[in-house]
Amino acid sequence: MPLIRSNVHTHTAFCDGKDAMEDMVLAALAAGFDTLGFSFHSYTPFDTSYCLRDHAAYMREYGRLKAKYSGDITLLNGVELDLYGERPAECDFVIGSVHYIKEGDAYFPVDCSAGDFKKLIEEAFAGDAYAAAERYFAEEAELARTVRPDIYGHFDLITRFNAGAAFFDEGGARYKRAALSAAEALPPGAVVEVNLGRLFRGEGGMYPSAWLLRELNALGCRFMLASDAHERAALGFMFGETCAELKKLGVRSLVRYRGGSLEEVGL
Ligand SMILES: [Zn+2]
Ligand SMILES: [Zn+2]
Repeated sequence: MPLIRSNVHTHTAFCDGKDAMEDMVLAALAAGFDTLGFSFHSYTPFDTSYCLRDHAAYMREYGRLKAKYSGDITLLNGVELDLYGERPAECDFVIGSVHYIKEGDAYFPVDCSAGDFKKLIEEAFAGDAYAAAERYFAEEAELARTVRPDIYGHFDLITRFNAGAAFFDEGGARYKRAALSAAEALPPGAVVEVNLGRLFRGEGGMYPSAWLLRELNALGCRFMLASDAHERAALGFMFGETCAELKKLGVRSLVRYRGGSLEEVGL
């Protein structure tokens, strides 16, 4: 049985996930989970390509599944709230994420495609990729100030399309300074995701990067494993290996949802 039997970063076919909500529940049960949280993408009026379209239908299906599987697994109704997204009236938890850089009236996605990422750097920052990273982390700091989410999603998502193209040096002083200033803006004991979505897609490592995770750990942040699952197979992917890796990086415990509340689990 895996040490962490819970994931609350889960997308379904109601937004940009591949699988139906019920299939995600069945996959979580098969993986031995006792808790599964759904986190639809909040509504962003400037980009409706990936966010939840029919909130009423979503809530009906959530209610049906919660009743049907009540003896088997705790289901939670959360949201992945974009910095520029609309906060739903009621939810069990909020994952706060930055997916766009706002420049003037334009919203540039940071995680859509390598082409979009290049466009962001060239059009919004005149080719200065470090300036783009600085703005991204300033938005992360703003998220901490204004949204105060329960969980901070993929904290260094700005690196998603940097690996292959190397627009900026992630080991360089200017980039590190930007990331650290956002880390220092987090409230004491902030819960930061160890997000395995990119790892599952075979596109790179976890968010945050190891060096940044160490810094966040030194600042007293708490960590939560997150599949950021857009399909069944991603649920719980590499949870065991990641626990071992985190231990090596000096992380002593993780937090997870059990029922509706947070529980600390020693590594
Ligand atoms: Zn996200
Ligand atoms: Zn997500």
